[in-house]
Amino acid sequence: MSILTIASHYDPIKLADKVRRVVTRSRLNGVEERRYYRFRGGRWYGGIATGDVVGCNLRCGFCWSWREASHRMVEGSFYKPEEVFRKLVSIADARGYRAVRLSGGEPTISRRHVLKLLELFEDTSYTFILETNGILIGADKTYAEELAKYKNLIVRVSIKGTSEEEFHMLTLAEPSFFQCQLKSLKNLVDAGLEPGRRVYPAVMLSFSSSENYENLKTRLAGIHPLLSEEVDEEYVILYPHVVKLLKNRGLKPKIAYKPEGIPASMI
Ligand code: SF4
Repeated sequence: MSILTIASHYDPIKLADKVRRVVTRSRLNGVEERRYYRFRGGRWYGGIATGDVVGCNLRCGFCWSWREASHRMVEGSFYKPEEVFRKLVSIADARGYRAVRLSGGEPTISRRHVLKLLELFEDTSYTFILETNGILIGADKTYAEELAKYKNLIVRVSIKGTSEEEFHMLTLAEPSFFQCQLKSLKNLVDAGLEPGRRVYPAVMLSFSSSENYENLKTRLAGIHPLLSEEVDEEYVILYPHVVKLLKNRGLKPKIAYKPEGIPASMI
C-alpha cells in the first residue's frame, strides 16, 4: 500500500494489523523477526546507533522516510532481535555511542520483537530510545506496562500536529486517533515512566498556529505538568523527496528548514 492509495479516515490500528502481516515473521520457536532496511550511526542524541524498521501505521505527509520505510512494507530484510542487538552494539561500540534506537517506520508494530530487544539491552549500559507515534501504546495500556519494566528505556512519542484536525490533515487517519497519541503518554506515565525524563512528547509544529500549540500544551499538562515543559519541537526538513510528498498531499508548512538548517518559510 503506497501513499497514493491510502484511504482518507483510515483506522491506524487496523492498518497496523495489515502492515504487521508483511513486515514481521514469526519463527517456530516464537521469535518475531522484523523487516529492517538499514543500520547506521548518527549524530542525533549526541551520537546514536540506529536500526531503521520498515512499515508504519500512519501515512504522514511530511515523513522523511516514506520512500524506504514508513509508507512501504516489502523493502529490506528480516532480522531476529539477537541480530539487531549485535548490529546496534557493534555500531555503538565502534563509535563510542551510549545510546541506541529504532527509527524509520513504527517499531511498536512488532511488539514481541521490540520487547525481546529491550530484554537484551537490559543487561547493558546503553540507553534504548523508542521513537514511536504512540498509537498502539495508547490503545492498549498493557503495552505501556510491559515497556515500563525496562530500566534503560526512554520513550519519545511523536505527536502529529496539535489537534485532531491537524492530525487528520497530516496523516489522513481518522481524527479521533489523535487522542490515542496523547493517551500513550498517559499510559506510559501511569505505568511508571518518569514524565519529561523517561517519556516525553515530540510535536510536529510546522503546520500549527501558536494558539493551537498552547492548547496542546494545556492538554499535555492535564496528563502531567512536566510533559508540557519538555516538548521536543519538530519542524519539517525540506529534503527533495519530502518536498515531493508535501506537494502530493497539498501540505504547506508555515515553518520549515532547508537541509543545511536554514529557515525556509514556504516550499
Ligand atoms: S509516524 Fe513517523 S514513520 Fe510513520 S509515517 Fe509518520 S513520520 Fe513517518
